Amino acid sequence: MRAAVVNAIGAGFDIEDIEIDVPLGREVLVEVKAVGLCHSDLHFAEHDFGNPLPAVLGHELAGVVAAVGPEVSEVLIGQRVVGSLVRWCGTCENCTNDLSYRCTQRHTLVRAAGDAPRLRRADGTAVTAAMGTAAFAEYALIHENQLVVVPEALPFAQAALLGCSTITGAGAVLNTATVSPGDSVAVIGCGGVGLNVLSGALLAQAGTIIAIDTQPAKLELAREFGATHVVDASQGDPVQAVREITGGGAKHVFEVVGIEATTLQAVRMTATGGTAYLVGLHRPGSTTTLDMMADVLAPQRTIVGVYMGSADIRVDIPRYAELYLDGKLNLDSLISRQIKLSEINDGFDEMRRGSAARSVITAWD
Ligand SMILES: [Zn+2]
Ligand SMILES: [Zn+2]
Repeated sequence: MRAAVVNAIGAGFDIEDIEIDVPLGREVLVEVKAVGLCHSDLHFAEHDFGNPLPAVLGHELAGVVAAVGPEVSEVLIGQRVVGSLVRWCGTCENCTNDLSYRCTQRHTLVRAAGDAPRLRRADGTAVTAAMGTAAFAEYALIHENQLVVVPEALPFAQAALLGCSTITGAGAVLNTATVSPGDSVAVIGCGGVGLNVLSGALLAQAGTIIAIDTQPAKLELAREFGATHVVDASQGDPVQAVREITGGGAKHVFEVVGIEATTLQAVRMTATGGTAYLVGLHRPGSTTTLDMMADVLAPQRTIVGVYMGSADIRVDIPRYAELYLDGKLNLDSLISRQIKLSEINDGFDEMRRGSAARSVITAWD
């Protein structure tokens, strides 16, 4: 099957023919129909997070169940599914307390070192199936706990987005922050995840909703997703702008970029007693220096690290699917382009330039 393979950090994606094993245990063979290009994939392709190479990335997917392992009980052949990198075992203390996003036994959902690899080259070289999804390929072998069945009416490209950008962005607002009606919300970064933060804020009936970015096109899109105010951070100090709009700071601030400058801005535009939610992935070893008195103690701010929108994918993905089908969640405008697998490097170049919301691979030539 065709797959986009990362052979070296920073060297992009190579289209190769590789082999995929049959499903064992609770594994499911998914025919991938759509897979989004997520900033995390770019991050893992450009910075060494310790994934052995060569590797296949891709984790925001929708497809059809093509075959199931002998112990699979949650999905049936032919069903439409969304896949996610959220791995939960179902039996650890966190999983049994409805905190599956804090699963401590994630490693049990992928094959152990020494087992036959899920992916390999014809010469037998193992290819890492990253995040347990490895969806930049025609087929993917995925543990059934990382899959959720969705309605047939949900188009594949829109369905794929539910698996990462929607659960992460909307989940940060609805699950992690539990924003209340009338609350003020600000989001720094209006890409795929940031726009879903806005969708979450709209669903939570937040009051003032401020979108911050440096790309005018993304700020235009942000208005479509419910932003009541937009701030072009290339045209002045966004901290000052948010303080002026809100009269002191936003109660909930979501940082989805993942660099020091925007992390500091997020903390500093948070109201007294408010919370800054750090959603964007940072580079390995990245640090941020805070003025502890001025930034944290005196204003009594809370700073929260958010993982995948605190999502329980079995609950959240069907809920977002239903909201989309009811016309209450905008997924259509998130998709800036549908591309072929062979255009994956162009898609990520576009993401680097900051010009796209989401490119989604929907063809395999
Ligand atoms: Zn992602
Ligand atoms: Zn667990």
